[in-house]
Amino acid sequence: MNILVINAGSSSLKYQLMDPETGVVSAKGLCERIYIDGRLTHKVGDKKVVKEIAMPSHSEAIAAVLDILVDPVDGVIKSTDEIDAVGHRVLHGGMKFSDSCIIDDQVIKAIEACIPLGPLHNPANLMGIRACQAVMPKTPQVAVFDTAFHMTMPPKAYRYAIPTEYFENDDIRRYGFHGTSHKFIARRAAELMGTKNFKLVNCHLGNGSSMSAVMDGKCQDTSMGLSPLAGVPMGTRCGDIDACVVQFLCNKYNMSVDECLTMLNKKSGVLGMSGVSSDFRDLEDGASKGNEACQLALDKFAYECAKYVGAYAAAMNGIDMLTFTAGVGENGSAVRAAICDYLGFLGIQIDPEKNDVHGKEALISTPDSKVQVWVIPTNEELMIAQDTAELVNAAK
Ligand code: ADP
Repeated sequence: MNILVINAGSSSLKYQLMDPETGVVSAKGLCERIYIDGRLTHKVGDKKVVKEIAMPSHSEAIAAVLDILVDPVDGVIKSTDEIDAVGHRVLHGGMKFSDSCIIDDQVIKAIEACIPLGPLHNPANLMGIRACQAVMPKTPQVAVFDTAFHMTMPPKAYRYAIPTEYFENDDIRRYGFHGTSHKFIARRAAELMGTKNFKLVNCHLGNGSSMSAVMDGKCQDTSMGLSPLAGVPMGTRCGDIDACVVQFLCNKYNMSVDECLTMLNKKSGVLGMSGVSSDFRDLEDGASKGNEACQLALDKFAYECAKYVGAYAAAMNGIDMLTFTAGVGENGSAVRAAICDYLGFLGIQIDPEKNDVHGKEALISTPDSKVQVWVIPTNEELMIAQDTAELVNAAK
């Protein structure tokens, strides 16, 4: 089976053509500068092709992707008929979607209705969906929501302690993101444990970071909120913050709320604290040369991540497995060690030699650690392809 996985952003669009059973990616790439001029980077194995192609909208970007996939030289299929289905990453499913689903007019309307909750991403995701529908009307399309995995949270986890009317009238609550990744890791973790019945805390630590508490395969709590700004500090996002900070800064600097939120989303986190970089490798480099701001940013990150693990252990009355994934979680052995350093009280012990692992699945805890600690590489595209194949096969 060939599934085309699409992740459409406001001016970019990532794609992968893959087999959902084997996970083999036959081609992948990126359209950039949509609405500006347009550039396609296409990769098949080690071969990379870059083409300047006019992309006045997402439709031309999708058309360019399909053209190169069937290109006699750079392509991997003879005709677009060989694409069995398209899986779209959609940021916000609001309260309407607790699972992936086949896209029809109703689903499109529901994704549109979630635009106020995901104002930056949902419109772009919809443009990707509409562009695919226009050029391949007979091919089934599936929406896979970043929020869906977290819909099993109980009200005490997802409700904010504000007047109920804002929940009832406006759907203001915790949603959580990176759900496709948390779901992928929860499934793999269950395979490794040989059971679904255990308590897992998953640390998805990348440029954006989120933590999830998962019990018996179901999400119980997660660190991001109504938007991806909440939770642990991130590359450029501040994470949890007192809402009065916004009021103070807007008043003092005559900023609009939007300007203040742009600062909290794009200039904060470890970038804002260090003044150096959002990339953890640069921070480690800076800290090793004596840059105290870099060290403080790293300390703050590990401290807040460890606090979430402790909180989730309390929420679930225990923890059996701790997993690290995404760019920092998979590669940052020093970050993992710094987080686990706080967690001895839970019986968590990692082996420094085993922890010297980068981008590979590995058990990094000691044999007598009360909690198994694993590094598990995430694969959101594969999860999207698998959900898409499952739904399309079931509908046949
Ligand atoms: P995104 O959230 O954009 O998908 P990724 O999950 O790809 O991000 O993570 C990217 C981040 O991973 C980089 O910003 C970098 O900080 C971090 N990273 C990559 N390699 C290492 C490493 N060896 N050590 C520490 N951090 C790393």
